[in-house]
Amino acid sequence: MSLTVPYENLKMLNRPFEAAFKQKFTDFLDTGWYILGNEVTKFEEEFGDYHNEQYVVGVANGLDALILSLKACDFKDGDEIIVPSNTYIATILSILHCGLVPVLVEPDMETYNIDPENILKAISNNTKAIMVVHLYGQCCDMDPIISIALDKKLKIIEDCAQAHGASYKGKMAGTFGDFGAFSFYPTKNLGALGDAGALICKSEAHYQKLRQLRNYGSEKKYHNEVVGYNSRLDEIQAAFLRIKLPYLNEINLHKKKLAAIYLTELREDFIKPVLNKDFDNVYHIFNIRHPQRDRIKAYLMENRIGTEIHYPIAPHKQKALKFMNHLNYPVSTEIHNTTLSLPCSFAHTVEDIYYVVETLNNFTL
Ligand SMILES: *Cc1c(COP(=O)(O)O)cnc(C)c1O
Repeated sequence: MSLTVPYENLKMLNRPFEAAFKQKFTDFLDTGWYILGNEVTKFEEEFGDYHNEQYVVGVANGLDALILSLKACDFKDGDEIIVPSNTYIATILSILHCGLVPVLVEPDMETYNIDPENILKAISNNTKAIMVVHLYGQCCDMDPIISIALDKKLKIIEDCAQAHGASYKGKMAGTFGDFGAFSFYPTKNLGALGDAGALICKSEAHYQKLRQLRNYGSEKKYHNEVVGYNSRLDEIQAAFLRIKLPYLNEINLHKKKLAAIYLTELREDFIKPVLNKDFDNVYHIFNIRHPQRDRIKAYLMENRIGTEIHYPIAPHKQKALKFMNHLNYPVSTEIHNTTLSLPCSFAHTVEDIYYVVETLNNFTL
């Protein structure tokens, strides 16, 4: 069954860039250079310029961006990293893959982002870093988080996989912490045509370390300085990303325009994201919450509207994280039980969104 309004449509989303992609691919074949070439270097520069930052390292994907930022810090086995309990599981996996201990902290029920007061309560003598996640496209409340980090001498790693171009008090996601980790998975606000990622970092030492870590510990061929990985940003993906980066603001503006329709037109019993002038939300995901979430999802599907749930199962309830299945995170659990993500893509038209609004406003229990 083809939907009237699918949740996402990547082919349509990328259609405006198709001619440029094809030309780029032809040029790429002509160069015969496939790994860590001019396109990666240029993309790193341009992504840095976009953020007004100097140090950008392209990597293979968002999970690796998180892992390499932790690796670059040289934490010890058993050190604790604070992370929101309602994040996508990748954030927590990055901590586990580094032999570190994830300490889950509940989010704020209105912003869905990590609650700074709960961070304070979770800090122990072993805490080394706070991994904030700017979830659904809205930045975390960074001022109190930065003062906690300064006070307790903790590193800040920002998971920006859902927040390309988002800002807080005029400052962009990825520029607050020691590291800003980005994913360019195809559905993200800046999406490649495959896997890709990047890291922004603040210090030259971290920058050099990250460049080694992503490439077998080596900057100079066959000279291996550290125990590195193969996590390079693919040259062709960098080339495609360079075509889309100049349109990131336009993509975000389009999503904001669609979100504004939901915010003004949707019935009040659907709990909507809260607006706050300090937070420029780029609506990677536009979610509503409702106690009858599953019935609403089924009802929308009957009306040929696709939705998603971000996420159906809280990380601490996942089989993969058995060691924390006994823990209790009621705020996170409530969000996971009630959240529903509505169509809000660069591929959607204003008419698509009005159709979703009209259908939702006709929902009866
Ligand atoms: C997508 C995502 C990731 C992982 O990115 P990949 O490129 O798929 O590895 C990490 N964290 C969050 C919050 C994400 O949404």
